[in-house]
Amino acid sequence: MSCDFLALAVPGVQKLSPYVPGKPVDELARELNLDPAGIVKLASNENPLGPSPKALEAIRAELAELTRYPDGNGFELKSKLAARCGVSVAQVTLGNGSNDILDLVARAWLAPGLNAVFSQYAFAVYPIATQAVGAQGRMVPAKDHGHDLEAMLAAIDGNTRVVFIANPNNPTGTWFGPDALERFLARVPQDVLVVLDEAYIEYAEGDELPDGLDYLAGYSNLIVSRTFSKAYGLASLRVGYALSSPQVADALNRVRAPFNVNSLALVAACAALDDAEYLAASRRTNDAGMAQLEAGFRELGLQWIPSKGNFIAVDFARDAAPINQALLKEGVIVRPVGGYGMPTFLRVSIGTQAENARFLDVLGQVLARG
Ligand SMILES: *Cc1c(COP(=O)(O)O)cnc(C)c1O
Repeated sequence: MSCDFLALAVPGVQKLSPYVPGKPVDELARELNLDPAGIVKLASNENPLGPSPKALEAIRAELAELTRYPDGNGFELKSKLAARCGVSVAQVTLGNGSNDILDLVARAWLAPGLNAVFSQYAFAVYPIATQAVGAQGRMVPAKDHGHDLEAMLAAIDGNTRVVFIANPNNPTGTWFGPDALERFLARVPQDVLVVLDEAYIEYAEGDELPDGLDYLAGYSNLIVSRTFSKAYGLASLRVGYALSSPQVADALNRVRAPFNVNSLALVAACAALDDAEYLAASRRTNDAGMAQLEAGFRELGLQWIPSKGNFIAVDFARDAAPINQALLKEGVIVRPVGGYGMPTFLRVSIGTQAENARFLDVLGQVLARG
């Protein structure tokens, strides 16, 4: 007789729906007996350029050290980030992906009886991190698919400890400008932490999007979260970071697993930070690919949500699941977002010119079939 261990799990865990990742290329190849080399994956907002050659070189040089634990303090990477961001080392927290940062925030400040505020259509990890520690998620209806910052302010109550906001947001690509962030930060109670998730900030140009770093000095309740997974092209290595007041970083560091960032990730992230050429190429590829997809959608008579990320949500104005299935059969993986409450949309990551062209071609064929 075995026990029902799910029933014994803490209440938050019992009610959790696990994160649904983009379908891996090898999985689709296995399922449909396709050649993996012919599959195009535009489902996980990965950098289509492959990793920076400098990062690869750093990884190779580090391989002989794999028997040793990594530097648990991540000294070199933190120093580099601090210098780059104009903050002290004591303000930097490293995470096993920025996903880890979100979990650390939840573990340090959320518990049963407390709540976190986030938007409808916000990144799926916010409700998961919140519920996993038994806290309540307060989802605020979106406005034009974006964050309604006024309504989010209104949703904050005496038990709110954290507000999660993503700029731009995933999966919608929506964003808000510096003025909106300033108005928001000025009105959030000072004892409520604001996690500003800037996973795609490196793609932004000019001052359409605020730079969270500009507000760290003024707001000790601000946590800026960033990642090496997207524009820096190191998704598999799992490395992200938070910038905050030293005291907030101290609390995050207390709940952090001792060696949460591995040595290959540490050296690769340092090298990637120094590879300005790679970052510029990532931006160029993204800008060109975004324009390519928008032009393709226009030609197909489709609407989309304007995006500042490395992905775009396209609207089919009907259930997108059959379209997704048809794309999969042709070896094209994009991301269904029905789980986010957007069943008529598919989220498409920006790929290389050739990948985008293949996707648009296959999509045209699928839609022509009706
Ligand atoms: C991709 C993404 C992340 C986290 O990615 P990591 O790989 O864990 O660093 C965080 N927030 C948003 C909004 C994202 O889209």
